[in-house]
Amino acid sequence: MRAITVKPGVAGSARLATVDDPRPAAGQALLATIEVGICGTDHEILAGGHGEAPRGSPWLIPGHECLARVLEAPEGCGLRPGQLVAPTVRRPCGQPRCYPCAHDHPDMCISLQYTERGIQGAHGYQCERFAEWPRYLVPLPDGFADFGVLMEPTSVVTKAIEEAARVQRARLAWEPQRALVTGAGPVGLLAAMLLRLRHLDVTVYDRDAADHPRAQAVRALGAAYVCSADAELAQVAGADGVDWIVECTGARALVFGALQALAPAGVLCLLGVSGAGVSLEVPADAINLGLVLRNGLVFGSVNASREAFAQAGQSLAVAEANWPGWLAGLVSVRVPPADVASAIGGGPERIKTAVRWAG
Ligand SMILES: [Zn+2]
Ligand SMILES: [Zn+2]
Repeated sequence: MRAITVKPGVAGSARLATVDDPRPAAGQALLATIEVGICGTDHEILAGGHGEAPRGSPWLIPGHECLARVLEAPEGCGLRPGQLVAPTVRRPCGQPRCYPCAHDHPDMCISLQYTERGIQGAHGYQCERFAEWPRYLVPLPDGFADFGVLMEPTSVVTKAIEEAARVQRARLAWEPQRALVTGAGPVGLLAAMLLRLRHLDVTVYDRDAADHPRAQAVRALGAAYVCSADAELAQVAGADGVDWIVECTGARALVFGALQALAPAGVLCLLGVSGAGVSLEVPADAINLGLVLRNGLVFGSVNASREAFAQAGQSLAVAEANWPGWLAGLVSVRVPPADVASAIGGGPERIKTAVRWAG
């Protein structure tokens, strides 16, 4: 079968190759890939900065944001041939002392010895077919054909949003009103969507001009968009601050800006990945004092459990009913596998690029 392969650590090594067909083990399902989204993690892998091939393989099949169709499924597993599914990404580490992995939460792995399909130690989904255990496949309704590829990034945001809500409700009778999302890429847009579904007053803040497709997508949700050229983050937050901030850029100035933009008893979810090694001078005392005296809650979040995938599916269905076509519009570019180079290249007007494997 055809697959995209990369040599981890080697920039520009992505190829469309012919590899062995998958051979499902007893109890595994066989899937046909429909399309696979490309995100910042893929860009890093394709640029040679990230990624690890499975043991014994000189190359890695990348791709972790996948929409697929069941070709064959074991009897009684709850999946039927023809059904749409989204596979989860992270697999348990199997380390004896890792209690989150033992309890079906490899997203919270404490040994950090996990594998991730398409990223770390396991092949991903940029290929025509793959085998997988049914417990890692989340069934989707047929109506998800145009936007089901967004399941994985939506699951990552869902985990952070649900966790923030659960912890905040455990701390106090929380009634958030204002939310701020930094970053208008796919993750930021999906965060804005989930916060709008909770009826918050949402502002998204990024560098793009106000007429950029991403800014238009923000306004289509009934949220506000502010370009960073027009206002500082502190101005957007105002003197009262913001109840709920989701930081999706990893940009150091925005991360520390967000720490100072929280309203009393507010929560900041950190979802953006930073580059390494650059220092920043910050008003450390003021930041600490603000968090202490205002009961600020800050937490980081990565990956998603199967439960978060299921919740993401529910949210996508409600979002599609509320804003028909909005989700499909986020997948702004679809390319055939042979065009992987152009898919990597990106483009200023793009929101999400996907590699299309099958109809
Ligand atoms: Zn991703
Ligand atoms: Zn673990």
